[in-house]
Amino acid sequence: MTLSAAPRITCEVLETRADTARIFNIQRYSLNDGQGIRTVVFFKGCPHRCPWCANPESLSPAIQTVRRESKCLHCAPCLRDADECPSGAFERIGRDITLEQLEREVLKDEIFYRTSGGGVTLSGGEVLMQAGFATRFLKRLRQAGLHTAIETAGDAPLSRLLPLAQQCDEVLFDLKIMDPARAQAVVKMDQPRVMENFLALVREGINVIPRLPLIPGFTQEEENVRQVLAFLAPTSIRELHLLPFHQYGEPKYRLLGGEWAMKACVPPTAEEIARVRSKAEAEGFHVTTGG
Ligand code: SF4
Repeated sequence: MTLSAAPRITCEVLETRADTARIFNIQRYSLNDGQGIRTVVFFKGCPHRCPWCANPESLSPAIQTVRRESKCLHCAPCLRDADECPSGAFERIGRDITLEQLEREVLKDEIFYRTSGGGVTLSGGEVLMQAGFATRFLKRLRQAGLHTAIETAGDAPLSRLLPLAQQCDEVLFDLKIMDPARAQAVVKMDQPRVMENFLALVREGINVIPRLPLIPGFTQEEENVRQVLAFLAPTSIRELHLLPFHQYGEPKYRLLGGEWAMKACVPPTAEEIARVRSKAEAEGFHVTTGG
């Protein structure tokens, strides 16, 4: 089974976990995903199943255990309990963390945020699955004067998205497949709701930065790009980030026992990226390639 074919979960799954988040990574010193030097916190669980997802370990909201054959000593204690493995061949993906613990963790790099204009970005998975926690967390960081951002696909009730977005200096908002039927079929996304949510955030005066993953065969096609630009044209937004497809997620699919559905997909060439870029620039957008 491909991981992207796994049963759909909903944005409700982890919402009851008020004071604890389930995350799978904290990436320090990141220069992507927002301005300056940042810490990116990756939340576990995603209701979508993008075939090109580079973070397959984010999809399940459950804590998973994986085994790295290369580290295995074949000494057998793990047959009783994976935690007894002496070589570190077993690895847990995901852990629960309280608000206070996460705050302490990200504040370790406060000096870098303050000197570089950076801050903290919440990513995933889909952070909206744990919107209650994320909202409280970012509120605390903002009260401490830190720059805050989220990365989201925006497919959740506005009542959940808006309070979180209001705690953000930047909302990095992915627009993927614009055709509603195709978006539902391929990435399990309610595209009309995504677009309504996007416009609602703009109306609220929130700093929304649209991002378009460039995925051959899915989002990069001329018609999809045209629809993205046409959707943005009446808004005040004139910034667009392009995120070209890459193959870096492939080993993670293997580790998780799934198949990488995009094995045969060739990343967009420099010319193809330039074509999309100049189309957007011709319509007045300031385009950045990468996060
Ligand atoms: S929305 Fe993001 S995390 Fe979720 S499946 Fe798509 S690419 Fe992966």
